[in-house]
Amino acid sequence: MEICFLGTGAPYPDPQRGSSAILVDVGSAKILLDCGRACIQQMARMRIAPAAITHCFLTHAHYDHVADYAPLVLTSWRFGRRHTLRVYGPPGTQAMSEALFNEVYKIDIAARKALQKEDTERGIDVQVIELGDGAVVEGEGWRVRATQVEHWPIPISLGFLVEGNGKRMFFTGDTSPCDAVREAAAGVDLLIHEAMYFPPDSGHYRGHSHPVDVGEVARQTETKHLVLTHLQPETTMEKLLNDAATHFTRRMTMASDQMRLVV
Ligand SMILES: [Zn+2]
Ligand SMILES: [Zn+2]
Repeated sequence: MEICFLGTGAPYPDPQRGSSAILVDVGSAKILLDCGRACIQQMARMRIAPAAITHCFLTHAHYDHVADYAPLVLTSWRFGRRHTLRVYGPPGTQAMSEALFNEVYKIDIAARKALQKEDTERGIDVQVIELGDGAVVEGEGWRVRATQVEHWPIPISLGFLVEGNGKRMFFTGDTSPCDAVREAAAGVDLLIHEAMYFPPDSGHYRGHSHPVDVGEVARQTETKHLVLTHLQPETTMEKLLNDAATHFTRRMTMASDQMRLVV
C-alpha cells in the first residue's frame, strides 16, 4: 500500500502544510482519509487527479478535516469522474453533505448542469454512509475498520485501520491518547498519530495528544513505524522526535506535505 501525505497541518494557517488529508492507494481503491484545507491543491502538486479518488473517509467535521470535501466532489465531477464517490464519516456527515450540495453549491451545480456538457450530465453522484465504532467497509484487496477515538468535545470522531496486501496501517484522526487507539492499532505496520503542543494544563489535551504521550501509545501498540502528523506551524523536527522518543525507540517520521511512504 502506498500512502501520500497531502496535508499534515492543523487548523492554523501554515505556508508549509495543508490541513489533514492522506491518500492511501490499496487494492483496487484510492482512499482519501480526511479532506482538509488545501487537499485539492496538494493533489495538483502531486499530479493526483481528484477524479481518481474512489472512497473518502472523514474522521470528524472540524473544518481542518473537511474543508475541501465540497471541492473534492465538485472538482472530480467537473473533471472526469465516472464513478460514484463513496463517502464515509461519523453521524452528521449526511447532513453536512446535503447542506453543501442541496444549498451552498446548488447555484453552481444547476448552472453547470444547464450547460449540458457530457462531464456534468450525470449529477455529482455521491453516496454518503455514516459509520459508528467497529464498522467495516471492504472492497477488492482492501478493508477499512472505523474506531471511535477520544476527541472532546466532538461527540464522535473516528480513526481508521486500513488493511491490504498483508499490511495494516492506522490513522488516528484527532484524538487524546486512548485505549481505543492502543487496541485498534495493536501490531500495525504503520501508525499515523496526531501530535500537538499546548500548555500542560490545557483543556485541549482532552482531545489532542502531546508527542511524549504519542510515543507511549506507539510503544504500547508495538508498531514498526510511527508517523506524527496534524502539526502546528512552529513545531520543530528535533523537539517532536525527541519528545516521542521518550517512550518509542523504533522508526519515527515527522510527516510533511507531499511525503510518500510504501508499506
Ligand atoms: Zn484537526
Ligand atoms: Zn478536530
